[in-house]
Amino acid sequence: MITGYLDHAATTPLRPEALVAMQPFLGERFGNPSGAHAVARDARAGVEDAREQVAEVLGFRPQEIVFTSGGTEADNLAVLGAVRRHGGTAVTVATEHHAVLHPVEHLGGRVVGVDGIGRVDLEELADALDERTRLVSVMAANNEAGTVNDLAAVAAVVRERAPQAWLHTDAVQGACWLDLRGLDVDLVSLSAHKLGGPKGVGVLALREGVTLEPLWYGGGQERERRSGTHAVPAIAGLGAALAATAAERAATNERVGRLRDRLVDGLLAIDGVHETVPRSHKVAGSAHVCIEGVDSESLLFLLERAGVSASAASSCASGALEPSHVLSAMAVPKEWSVGALRLSLGWCSTDADVDLALDVIPAAVAQLRR
Ligand code: PLP
Repeated sequence: MITGYLDHAATTPLRPEALVAMQPFLGERFGNPSGAHAVARDARAGVEDAREQVAEVLGFRPQEIVFTSGGTEADNLAVLGAVRRHGGTAVTVATEHHAVLHPVEHLGGRVVGVDGIGRVDLEELADALDERTRLVSVMAANNEAGTVNDLAAVAAVVRERAPQAWLHTDAVQGACWLDLRGLDVDLVSLSAHKLGGPKGVGVLALREGVTLEPLWYGGGQERERRSGTHAVPAIAGLGAALAATAAERAATNERVGRLRDRLVDGLLAIDGVHETVPRSHKVAGSAHVCIEGVDSESLLFLLERAGVSASAASSCASGALEPSHVLSAMAVPKEWSVGALRLSLGWCSTDADVDLALDVIPAAVAQLRR
């Protein structure tokens, strides 16, 4: 692995388990799983094995798992699918990923605020819910600041104030770190490439009884919920990556949490560095700080030159750094948020990554402040 890669929230290197699981489906097991003959059945077995792996990790049943092209599609399918099929409105939170926010806004839904560390404001959420609410979407963990929402508390509010509504959680950033079994949620989105799987594949898990309008029409795969020939190698990789992630989750949380703590403690030794969210309220892989007297773009440039891959706002298609809607919603002062730095660790992060970052970042900050 490349030393200095601290952008696991953007994407993760492929886990070896995923690569091994994918290889047969890039070779001799090439069939189309929708077909009727033995070659097709062999590919279908790969898809169904992965479905069982995903169902097991999420605490859903295999028939409740729908494979998608990634987190963005899963989020859009949850929000648009529920409201287009059943009417009503959608409610979400200001710090959500745009894959949730934009569909909710497109439908004219409600967006509620967060507290100073990025947790959904439960009172505001309760006020936003009524008998027209069809879908509520609250993320498990935030992609920028790493904040974890209390989904049990969210579910209690939703069940009381809008019992007809379904609760969706975007667990794209949560799945590495949080045990998602037993959550009182109706729909869950995942993305393989955030947890050591390949890019371009994800999951929408939906409880029996949740019915959605598909995003597009075609061959009726995935029980009419998501047409299109299955990306069999990617699906096999997703299943293996998620199973390995869940099996090692406790140990990874501990190991990576220690690395993250050393990293953040080292950064806090620099004057004018603020930890954006207390560690007790965020996932173990997330380090987010705001550095006074520097701007993120210049800092990232210096870090990249010194071999550290990091990010400021969440990475977006253009690579352009726009003001972060997450930090704005958290009311982080502008003088701080212009120097936001997101360092995110993952399954293969090592002491060497932290050593390099702690070598490079203080020097880069000093250079920019001169
Ligand atoms: N949701 C969250 C919280 C994310 O962080 C991301 C990706 O950054 C997505 C959704 C989109 O997932 P994908 O890249 O698989 O489309």
